[in-house]
Amino acid sequence: MKERVKRLVGKTVFAAGLDALFLRNAAIVVAFHRVQDTERSEGLTIGVRMFERYCRFFQRHFRVVSLHELVEKLERGVTLNRELAITFDDGYLDNYENAAPVLERLSLPATFFLVTRWIGTDIVPWWDEVEGVRHQWMNWDQVRSLHRRGFEIGAHTRTHVDLGSVDNGEAHEEILGARRELEEQLGASVELFAYPYGRQDNLVDSNRDLVRGAGFRCCCSCFGGVVARGTDPFHLTRVPITPRYTSPQQFGLEIALGRSIVLA
Ligand SMILES: [Zn+2]
Repeated sequence: MKERVKRLVGKTVFAAGLDALFLRNAAIVVAFHRVQDTERSEGLTIGVRMFERYCRFFQRHFRVVSLHELVEKLERGVTLNRELAITFDDGYLDNYENAAPVLERLSLPATFFLVTRWIGTDIVPWWDEVEGVRHQWMNWDQVRSLHRRGFEIGAHTRTHVDLGSVDNGEAHEEILGARRELEEQLGASVELFAYPYGRQDNLVDSNRDLVRGAGFRCCCSCFGGVVARGTDPFHLTRVPITPRYTSPQQFGLEIALGRSIVLA
């Protein structure tokens, strides 16, 4: 019942254009993981039709920009105006097979953050192991294809390590190593970074210095929060899109009301 009410209120708010008032001078970066149709509801998975509904909602109510463009605006300190950047974490194959065609059909930019040592392998991460599911990763040809088609590729470490719990040497290898491997595979510069797990305690300040020192221009978290003028690109918050939101309107309402923060 509560969810239904939220959906209705969200619809009304957005239909009335009140969102423009709530979200004035702000930007949002959203983070997806998997886009596929599954029998069981999983926290990291959004169905293909629901993904398309999100994309159309973004297109209608926000100015969808590439993450690069948003980072550049933050660097220049210009006023933000409802920009929204779409990102994906980890490099699941369904991003290539299901999400990219929808994005292309709607002419929307997006960034894919990849775990370099998992690309083209059959490694099962612990969170999928726990759920008893297996999902495939993209291979390097598919990553290069996304890049050629204009999508942005970013780094998400080499092995999805929790940077808040390893020593500086290992963190350095994971951060700089991922950038080098991506650049070698793409033959292009890679400047966007999102740290694994993305909560406040999964990164310490010294890691942030490593990210900056490795030549990246941003460091994305994933615990929610909107972006404002003056936001440091190395403290760039993202809002994870999960089945916790029953509709894009509910997502929009919670964002507008400043309730996107997911606490650990
Ligand atoms: Zn991740």
